[in-house]
Amino acid sequence: MTILCYHSVEPGWESPLAVHPDDFARHCAWLAQHRRVIPLREAIAGLDRAGRPPAGTAALTLDDGFAALYEHALPVLRRHRLSSTVFLVAETLTPGGRAVDWVDTPPAYPLQTLTLDQVLEMQEAGVDFQSHSWAHRDLPSLDPAECVRDLRDSRELLEELLGRAVPLLAYPRGRHDGRVREAAARAGYSHALALPDLPETPGPFAVPRVGIYRGNGVRALRLKCRPNYLRLRNPARAVVRRLRRR
Ligand SMILES: [Zn+2]
Repeated sequence: MTILCYHSVEPGWESPLAVHPDDFARHCAWLAQHRRVIPLREAIAGLDRAGRPPAGTAALTLDDGFAALYEHALPVLRRHRLSSTVFLVAETLTPGGRAVDWVDTPPAYPLQTLTLDQVLEMQEAGVDFQSHSWAHRDLPSLDPAECVRDLRDSRELLEELLGRAVPLLAYPRGRHDGRVREAAARAGYSHALALPDLPETPGPFAVPRVGIYRGNGVRALRLKCRPNYLRLRNPARAVVRRLRRR
């Protein structure tokens, strides 16, 4: 009942965004045993009114398409036969490429993103690929026409390269507002995924996910997979609930 959001899986990058491969392997083993891990599209088709996927299920998503996924995530996902979706920054797959300049805590070495060959091999192995915008820009700061163009260009390039429909978008850093949600719909997406720090009103263009970060062990994962996790961690809501109970 939780859509999980990872970024990279790699040992050498000490950042919240890079889960250690040993932790990732433990997470996958736990998920395979305790949750029905379903394809993201199936999770989205079964969302309830609060934006939660069907009970007892989880879906795995990984943002940014870091090259380390090929070495450190793919073998584990295959071993446990877990469905997963990777959200790609489309410009990284153009001939000119795009350097990873959007992370706050980069490692000492240059971060690479997946090559097209790796993407296609992973797709062949069952990994689903969807859009994480054209260039990982801050969507709420773009003007509406520019935002539509960014999101549409990403969808169209990815559909051409992958040879399949790309109906899903993950907002860079989960950031969106009313204009961005409208732009996502106009750019041809059916759903878009967020990464709320605080609970926000869920909807087809604000599907909530729970972030998993470096240092999160199986205990943290179990807690984050609880059905009420997104509501529980908002202190204001918790206070309101306590007051109501009195
Ligand atoms: Zn991202």
